[in-house]
Amino acid sequence: MQLVRQNENKHGNWGRMVLAVLMVAAIGSGCASESSDDPGGSPAAPGRQAGPAGALSAYVEKVKRAQAVRAVAAKKWGLAKTPLAAPRPPAVKPKIATRKGFEVDGGESSPPVFTTVPVKEKIVFLTIDDGAEKDPALLRMMSDLQIPYSAFLTDYLISSNYGYFKQMQDRGVSLHNHTLNHRYLRGLSYAQQKHEICDQQTKLEKRYGKRPPLFRPPYGSYNEDTLRIARSCGIKAIPLWAAEAFPDRMEWRERDRDLHPGDIILTHFRGHKDWKGSMPDMIRRVMKTVTDKGYAVAKLEDYV
Ligand SMILES: [Zn+2]
Repeated sequence: MQLVRQNENKHGNWGRMVLAVLMVAAIGSGCASESSDDPGGSPAAPGRQAGPAGALSAYVEKVKRAQAVRAVAAKKWGLAKTPLAAPRPPAVKPKIATRKGFEVDGGESSPPVFTTVPVKEKIVFLTIDDGAEKDPALLRMMSDLQIPYSAFLTDYLISSNYGYFKQMQDRGVSLHNHTLNHRYLRGLSYAQQKHEICDQQTKLEKRYGKRPPLFRPPYGSYNEDTLRIARSCGIKAIPLWAAEAFPDRMEWRERDRDLHPGDIILTHFRGHKDWKGSMPDMIRRVMKTVTDKGYAVAKLEDYV
């Protein structure tokens, strides 16, 4: 519904009107949200098939409508191609283990550290870190395009405008822990790490009403203490990343310099003073790579 209120000047009234009409059509059929707890879509309309077949056709219908909305939004925001639709989220989340070579002895049931989610489908996950840049255009763009992402927030960077991330949360984005002060955790004592991780858990919970289940250590730096501490204050998993997106390029962890099913993509809340472009520039660039390679962006929290 934010779409209807939405006012972008450069592509004129026609695009806005089409977008508004499509959104109203989608809302009218109960299909505007891609909520994962709505597996059957809207109740079957009179004359539609009931039961599993009906639910499936309602779902297909819902995806089609969402794609029509996304195609208009992609034009409006200057994307080279319409982002692909993610498959239906799994009924059961995959079992995730720590990546080989990333193990440290964090004790029993320490949260897994991984860069790729074990899935077969051509999906990737978008994660945005830190919180320095607070560009309202990013919120509108991602809502318009219905591209899911997850935010990993550092307190000292978001504290100048906590409200921006509240708006993000209100648009369906999950907010996760990226410590209080963005320090190299491996260089810190147990008590200092505990302060960085667990006090940020508490801050985020107080401010945004939810204790984050996911934690990403700054610079991907962690040790045994990190895992023990993270687990002790409610962290379930530690997603790192397989590729990093910038407005002018991708950087790859894997030698084949390519995407793989389930890869986690890292990027940052940054603007012109930190890199060559705006947040929308960065999104255009990463979505070109993702879509050209035949991948869809899925919601990390549906899988982890
Ligand atoms: Zn960071």
